[in-house]
Amino acid sequence: MDNKFVYLFSEGNAEMKNLLGGKGANLAEMTNLGIPVPQGFTITTEACTKYYEDGEVISNVIVEQIMQALAKTEEITGKKFGDFNNPLLVSVRSGARASMPGMMDTILNLGLNDKTVEGVAKLTGNERFAYDSYRRFIQMFSDVAIDIEKRKFENILEEIKELKGVQYDTELDSEDLKKVVQRYKELFLKEMGKEFPQDPKEQLMDAVKAVFKSWNNPRAIVYRRLNDIPSSWGTAVNVQSMVFGNMGDNSGTGVAFTRDPATGEKIIFGEYLINAQGEDVVAGIRTPQPITKLEKELPECYREFMSIANRLEAHYKDMQDMEFTIEQGKLYFLQTRNGKRTAPAALKIAVNLVEEGVLTKEEALLKVEPKQLDTLLHPAFDADELKKAVPIAKGLPASPGAACGKVYFTAQDAKEKHEKGEKVVLVRLETSPEDIEGMVAAEGILTGRGGMTSHAAVVARGMGTCCVAGCGEIKIDEENKVFIANGVTYKEGDYISLDGSTGNVYGTAIKTVAPEITGYFGTFMAWADEIRKLKVRTNADTPRDAKQAIGFGAEGIGLCRTEHMFFDEARIPAVREMIVSENEEQRRKALAKLLPMQREDFIGIYEVMEYRPVTIRFLDPPLHEFLPTEEEDIQDLAKEMGISFEHLKSTIESLHEFNPMMGHRGCRLTVSYPEIAEMQTRAVIEAAIKVKKDKGYNIVPEIMIPLVGEVKELKYVKDIVVKTANEIIASEGIDLKYLVGTMIEIPRAALTADDIAKEAEFFSFGTNDLTQMTFGFSRDDAGKFLNSYYEKNIYESDPFQKLDQTGVGKLVEMAVKLGKSARENIKLGICGEHGGDPSSVEFCHNVGLNYVSCSPFRVPIARLAAAQAQIRNPR
Ligand code: PEP
Ligand code: MG
Repeated sequence: MDNKFVYLFSEGNAEMKNLLGGKGANLAEMTNLGIPVPQGFTITTEACTKYYEDGEVISNVIVEQIMQALAKTEEITGKKFGDFNNPLLVSVRSGARASMPGMMDTILNLGLNDKTVEGVAKLTGNERFAYDSYRRFIQMFSDVAIDIEKRKFENILEEIKELKGVQYDTELDSEDLKKVVQRYKELFLKEMGKEFPQDPKEQLMDAVKAVFKSWNNPRAIVYRRLNDIPSSWGTAVNVQSMVFGNMGDNSGTGVAFTRDPATGEKIIFGEYLINAQGEDVVAGIRTPQPITKLEKELPECYREFMSIANRLEAHYKDMQDMEFTIEQGKLYFLQTRNGKRTAPAALKIAVNLVEEGVLTKEEALLKVEPKQLDTLLHPAFDADELKKAVPIAKGLPASPGAACGKVYFTAQDAKEKHEKGEKVVLVRLETSPEDIEGMVAAEGILTGRGGMTSHAAVVARGMGTCCVAGCGEIKIDEENKVFIANGVTYKEGDYISLDGSTGNVYGTAIKTVAPEITGYFGTFMAWADEIRKLKVRTNADTPRDAKQAIGFGAEGIGLCRTEHMFFDEARIPAVREMIVSENEEQRRKALAKLLPMQREDFIGIYEVMEYRPVTIRFLDPPLHEFLPTEEEDIQDLAKEMGISFEHLKSTIESLHEFNPMMGHRGCRLTVSYPEIAEMQTRAVIEAAIKVKKDKGYNIVPEIMIPLVGEVKELKYVKDIVVKTANEIIASEGIDLKYLVGTMIEIPRAALTADDIAKEAEFFSFGTNDLTQMTFGFSRDDAGKFLNSYYEKNIYESDPFQKLDQTGVGKLVEMAVKLGKSARENIKLGICGEHGGDPSSVEFCHNVGLNYVSCSPFRVPIARLAAAQAQIRNPR
């Protein structure tokens, strides 16, 4: 037997979501529950996939099955496609497994033609209604299925209203609407070179094809990428017989939620319009009534509606978002689904449903999208003020949150003004590591260039600072300290506001409100902690970040990047001195200046972390990142160091590398200059001893060696670390434990992880570098060309954000197995950006890591993702 590609609503159920899409499965489920649903059928997601496999044609098998289902629908409804006396009209809608804005809009009233329109007029005794429906259908079908611009139809309607001297559509009578229909058909002929299709079956097949096609429209592709929806899923198509809410004052249409989607409060929340079709509610021409008023207008319908709504919520064990229509006093449900809600509402509803005994804690934990928590952790704009504001430009939403402050164009200015108590927004063409202090000082960061993984974006996300990146619409003139947006010039000191969640830039000050961690949030996260097996640490380089992360529930530091401390204004001279040193003696002198500062950093971090584990990674980046590039700065540095400009310049030039990311960095620096590791070990161990003595915290520092690819290089560095540490510990006469481990971030390290584990007491997967080196493209540059890959469906997501489980993940899995084979109890973690991405966290749980580590603001997201992973796949 051929595959079944089409299901009547009475043939499906809620379990068949993958095949029928969310909407289709729910229509089937409601039909089974005996809820009044206008009948119809669903064309499966497999039919969509097949459509693409067959080279964008709908195969005969599918056409046949559609025609059979249509015939059955005619039987069930007693109406007929194209029939004058009792015409069947249908709506056609897309319906993927997950609800997807960005896909095709609904087509209503399909089946209308020159003949059936008369039939509808006769049947309803309302010619105006019939022609109004017909003109709406021609416009919708042409816009959605054929792609003729909506504007062209609207212009015609405007012209006819003007001719008649009226303002609203409702003031047109049936004769006017006939004229509109005539003009619309002429427009269609002109645009398409053929008549508007009169055969309802042809209309239907065009509409089905349009739904399949919309699966791959650019908006849908972007939405899928942002929401981890694979392109292989495809969309279903729902064909449903029409009922009419615009057949008089005992008809109407509306939408409703079983709880308030903004707050989560348990009240019916919704709106309806008497004598209207669905699109009138959306179009906003008439103001809809609150659903409670229906009790007075149509009490029978209201009672039935309430009882079904409650039944649906109890059945689905979740807040429902429903569409309904009343046709001459008879109530129909057109759709139900789990309603979208704000993050605070999601938490309240989840906790309440457990309290009400509807859900278990595990079920409740699965109801909230981990990424949604993000909105709760950043400042937000005051809702009333935001409503009034108009954006002046839009860039990439690189790091969420809201920021408002005065514009400054250099890191230095931003820092100074911040120290004077001003709120500042740093505006740069792009940022570099040297800007770090200005970035820390800023409420928000706006850049003219760079993508979602640009320096500004990555650093801002790490700090939880709002950032709009790559805003090419504005012209930034750093030299003159101005930027121009939409022809308006903004100078240093002018107020702007940024929305890091939408990418919007506003030319005025908009008030922000601080994040609040409400009671429901706390309760919900405590449940997540009870269940999860995977620990969650944070990537933090400063006591401030560490404190923030603990507040969000971090259980340790998984990555402290020591080089970030080196960029500090007070330290960079000593760092530069170290780099340009010509011999060990000079280098040791410079390192001696850095030692006390680095030791203080670690003391600060240990004190905040108290008893929690802290992984400190030794110096990693290529050294030239610390050196000045501008002539002027080189002059200054030469003076400071008492050497000649030429000498310094040639040293800097000699440090130039063609491919610094694959150059002299990570443990390679220590192999060349062991004294760097000596100094860092000293700082780590002496700080731990001090905190142990002063505060009694038993710190067990975890020293992490970066960029290892060969066990012998790890052993070389480890020997230096162990020798230095043991000498200090012995001389202090104190008992202090410490671990030495490595990052696994070079493919060769993963491939030889059994050898590496003989020396490493722990592994931390550095999936930023591991991704870069496995794919062979640079983490800094890939953003420039990956868009073409998404458009062409070669990659569906950014491998630097969502772990590539097929390739990079295979290396991780292999390294886990090999590592354990050599050292049974080896501690395993991840500290690349992926440690805060929900699907990657699930992967880490599944392959048996002990912890994930991510930026402070993603800690709650990782905690929830880890709990969900345990619920789905207990270990
Ligand atoms: C990594 O490579 O994944 C990592 C965490 O280190 P960095 O990003 O500092 O290179
Ligand atoms: Mg790395």
